[in-house]
Amino acid sequence: MKIETLFEKKKPVLSFEIFPPKKEKAIQQIDETLEILCQLKPDFISVTCGALGSEVTNLTLELAKKIKHQYKIEPLVHLTCINHNKDEILLFLEEMKEYDLENILALRGDRNPELPEKKDFLHASDLISFIKQQGDFSVGAACYPEGHIEATSKMSDYLYLKQKQDVGAGHFVSQLFYDNQIFYSFLEQIRQMGVSKSIEAGIMPVLNKSQIERITSLCGASLPEKFKKVMTKYEDNKEALFDAGMAFAINQIVDLLASDVDGIHIYTMNNPTVAKRICRDIEHLIK
Ligand code: FAD
Repeated sequence: MKIETLFEKKKPVLSFEIFPPKKEKAIQQIDETLEILCQLKPDFISVTCGALGSEVTNLTLELAKKIKHQYKIEPLVHLTCINHNKDEILLFLEEMKEYDLENILALRGDRNPELPEKKDFLHASDLISFIKQQGDFSVGAACYPEGHIEATSKMSDYLYLKQKQDVGAGHFVSQLFYDNQIFYSFLEQIRQMGVSKSIEAGIMPVLNKSQIERITSLCGASLPEKFKKVMTKYEDNKEALFDAGMAFAINQIVDLLASDVDGIHIYTMNNPTVAKRICRDIEHLIK
C-alpha cells in the first residue's frame, strides 16, 4: 500500500523508525526487535540508510523486504542522494521494484567530508522529481519544525519544503522535537504557505545522557525548561532517566494526539521496549 494513500484513510497514523545495525551481533538481534515491533502493528516501519553500496544500505533493503514480505507491515525505505549519481539511484529503484517496495523517504543526506559529493542531486527535491519519473512510487520527505540546521532562515527552509511537495512528495516525517508549541507554530505557518500533505510528528524519547548531547549538537532541537529540569535531576540514574524520558515522550504524544496531528513517528532506536511502552500507554488514543 502506498503510504500517502494511507493518510487519506486513517488518522492518526502510527509509525516506527529503525536503523540497520552495524555490528554483526546487533544484526542477529534485529530479528527479535522486528518481531516485537511488527506485533505492535504500526501502520508502517521506516528503515534508515547510509551511503549506497555500503553494507548498511544493503541491509536497509534486506530489512525492508523482511518487514513487507515476512511480517506483512508496510516499509518506508530511506534513500539519500548527495553522494550518488543517477545510475546508482536507478539501480536502487530497480531493486525496489523487483521486491515490490513502493514507498521511499527521499532525502539529501548529511554532508560527510569523507564521502565525495556528486552533482546529479543537490537537494532532496531533485531526488523526489527523479524518483517520480521512474515509476509508481509513493515518495515522502523530511521536514524540520525548527528549520534545518543549514538553512539561512526558517522561512527559506519552509519554502523548500513547499517545493518538495510541488515536485511530488506525498507526505512528510518531521525531525524530532521536544517542544510541541514549536511543532504547532510550524504547522500553522506551512499550512498558510500551501503545504497541504500529511505531516507526522517525530518523537524520540530520551533514554540516556549522551543522547541528549548528541541531539542538541546534531539537529539543534530546543530543549524546553521542564525537559531540562527532569533530565538534569535524573541524568545519573539510568533507570530513573529511562522512566522520565518515556514519561516526557508519552505526554508529548498525548498532547499531539489531542491536537489532531496526522500521525506520530517514533524513533525507536531499535529498542523494542520503547515502542512497547508507548503503544501500551496510548492504546486507546490511537484507534
Ligand atoms: P533538503 O530538503 O535538500 O534540505 C537540505 C538543506 O538545503 C536545507 O537547509 C534546505 O533549506 C536547503 N534546501 C533545500 N532545497 C533547496 C534548494 N532548492 N535550493 C537551496 N537550498 C535548498 N540521513 C541519512 O543519512 N539517512 C537517513 O536514513 C535519514 N533519515 C532521516 C529521516 C528524517 C525523518 C529526517 C528528518 C532526517 C533524516 N536524515 C537521514 C537526515 C537528513 O539526511 C539531513 O537532515 C540532511 O542534512 C538534509 O536532508 P533533507 O532531505 O531534509 O534535505
